[in-house]
Amino acid sequence: MFSLINPANQSFLSEHQYITDETTQNKISISGKAYVNWRPETIYKRLNFIKSLIFELTKNQHLLAKSCTQEMGKPIKQSLSEIDKCKLLCEYYLQNAEKFLQSNKISTNGSESFVVYEPLGVILGVMPWNFPYWQVFRFAIPAIIAGNTVVVKHASNVAGCAQLIEKLFIDAGFPEGVYQNLLIAGKQVKAVIDNPLIKGVSVTGSEKAGTEVASAAAAQVKKAVLELGGSNALIVLSDANLDEAMPAIINARFQNTGQSCIAAKRYLVHKDIYDNFLERFTKGISALKMGDPMDEQTTLGPLARTDLAQEVQKQVDDSVAMGAKIVLGGKRNDAFYDATVLTNVTPDMPIFKEEVFGPAVPVVPFDTFEEAVKLSNSTDFGLGVSIFTADVAFIKSKIHLFEEGAVFINDLVKSDPALPFGGVKRSGFGRELAENGLKEFVNVKTVFIK
Ligand code: NDP
Repeated sequence: MFSLINPANQSFLSEHQYITDETTQNKISISGKAYVNWRPETIYKRLNFIKSLIFELTKNQHLLAKSCTQEMGKPIKQSLSEIDKCKLLCEYYLQNAEKFLQSNKISTNGSESFVVYEPLGVILGVMPWNFPYWQVFRFAIPAIIAGNTVVVKHASNVAGCAQLIEKLFIDAGFPEGVYQNLLIAGKQVKAVIDNPLIKGVSVTGSEKAGTEVASAAAAQVKKAVLELGGSNALIVLSDANLDEAMPAIINARFQNTGQSCIAAKRYLVHKDIYDNFLERFTKGISALKMGDPMDEQTTLGPLARTDLAQEVQKQVDDSVAMGAKIVLGGKRNDAFYDATVLTNVTPDMPIFKEEVFGPAVPVVPFDTFEEAVKLSNSTDFGLGVSIFTADVAFIKSKIHLFEEGAVFINDLVKSDPALPFGGVKRSGFGRELAENGLKEFVNVKTVFIK
């Protein structure tokens, strides 16, 4: 038995019990049976269910948003937007999935050659709490449209959201077993992966969870997609238009109270504009409103759990002990952590070299562009980078220098259903969203006729 606690006020929300390994295996069998019938369905039939799902998302938007805000502290307006984004994703695949899954003719020395995209079977998703709906949708929707069935092990601290997602699929009329929630602990995941019906796994979460799940998948020769941490740099060149860019620059770190893998976590600012930047940046951040996440005016909520806030506090305090200076914030109150800005930061400090999953950011000056690139790449992660400049042509010629899954120019790194999403280095491998995401869990079958 475990309890969910509202991080904003530490009040009790609900009590849950992990299902047993036996129940888990029974549920996987149900998904396996569902696959037999789901696989031959036409794409039109599958997409019709997606249309009903959009309807359910709209109908339940406020209920879903409230559950998310209560369980993990996301400001309510951002929770509502998260549901909008799930709808956008469904609509994107409604428009494009048929085209993406069409067979491709290939010219060879045979009389006919082509490739077809077939589903694999039951796919497991291990999902995090930071975007409780969006993360699940961007894994499950393409996998299901491609003809797979899915089981989802969601983060324990959003167990209520996880149940609501399963209910959405049931209410949308999906056949039993196409989508199932598995209320299990992390240590029960290996037995799921070992089940022969499971053909692949997608994990979004910490490096630790990702490596454990990927190792279990590798031992069974099963495909894994890993979306792990990030420590994106945000680079501001001396010619950047700060007036225009500042809202995106602030949002890049502080949306979702800093708990995003693609958040900008290390700000690198050209020395000629450093002081001016710091003044405007801290002024902008001071306008953020921390408080009750159910209040529509709130822009900064608590972190999802008190232990996560304590971790951010430790990373800041350890950096201060090494010589960093706090110019804004730096205090914790239960799960709430101030919007915090640090200067005098060197690359060996935790605030720079580790992933910081909360509203704290170092601002580091640089002199030459080469130095900015070097600092940007000096991390084990490789999810994305944002560069703000007036000289787009110059940056376009330098994109190859960045060891990242994404380069965003004059905007924050963000996910878009139409753009592939994923990282390199220790941020993981594989891609979600777009055509790439739809084809992660398919058998790319080659046909050759002499
Ligand atoms: P975790 O990585 O522990 O949780 C993510 C998911 O993985 C949850 O469903 C969790 O289940 C599950 N999980 C954890 N350990 C295992 C395991 N050994 N085998 C299988 N599944 C497992 O993240 P935390 O909640 O502990 O957050 C810690 C840090 O992870 C954050 O501070 C942040 O740095 C990073 N993180 C990154 C995210 C991203 O978007 N890239 C998202 C969330 C966290 P359960 O909840 O039951 O433990």
